[in-house]
Amino acid sequence: MPELPEVETLVRRLHPIVGTRIAGAEVLDDRLEISANDLIGAAIESVTRRGKHIVLALDGRGDLIVHLRMSGRLRLDRSDDEIPYTRMILRLDSDDSVYFINPRRLGTVVLCPSGFDRNLGVEPIAPEFTAEALGQLASGSRAPIKQLLLDQRKIAGIGNIYAAEALWRAGIDPRRPSSSLDEDEVSDLHAGITSVLFDAIDQLGTTIGSSVSDYRQSGKGGGSFQNHLAVYGRENEPCERCGTTIERVIQAGRSTCYCPACQT
Ligand SMILES: [Zn+2]
Repeated sequence: MPELPEVETLVRRLHPIVGTRIAGAEVLDDRLEISANDLIGAAIESVTRRGKHIVLALDGRGDLIVHLRMSGRLRLDRSDDEIPYTRMILRLDSDDSVYFINPRRLGTVVLCPSGFDRNLGVEPIAPEFTAEALGQLASGSRAPIKQLLLDQRKIAGIGNIYAAEALWRAGIDPRRPSSSLDEDEVSDLHAGITSVLFDAIDQLGTTIGSSVSDYRQSGKGGGSFQNHLAVYGRENEPCERCGTTIERVIQAGRSTCYCPACQT
């Protein structure tokens, strides 16, 4: 599933659609509770990211919120070639089209007339996400720290990949109760989270195995941060910091790879 760095990269690549107008729209999946007539004629004022959501602000119509989930994609394209699994097309007056490609139909598109309405936590790459802010979230939670990082109502945009990597960078066991982290550990984890997210954005995100079909840049190749992963997907490989074999635990149904020696 695309996480913050992948969605951020996609939003940046969609920037050329800002200032265009939706000249035509086709909704090709009745599971999408959206009407083409509500979109046609709207000017796209901005394209931004909130957590893992893509937000297209439509002049006078509200926010069009796209969540790609497991397998959705948005592709900016000028050709008329048919793209399989296309569920929605926005035809812009710039002659570009935005294709919403959604093979497993898990991704969603919703028009919110009164604006973005999801209950999301702090943006981890925004200035307000400080070590103190993380410390407050951690001290108030008995959940394992890995689960806290995945809780979108607390911190928006981190998923399984970057939670595991941030914990490895900080040297913290993913099973630790959040409230057990001391000030230095919170500070290390804050640095781990922000550094891994910015490093991944620099690499245009992560493209992994079959999830290449899950996440692909709009018509271009995927990112390359998969070449820099320290623990995610590396079970039974040696830790690059201490040489110990990476192990995997299941927490709340999700796998976490970690180093049993240098993550304590
Ligand atoms: Zn290690």
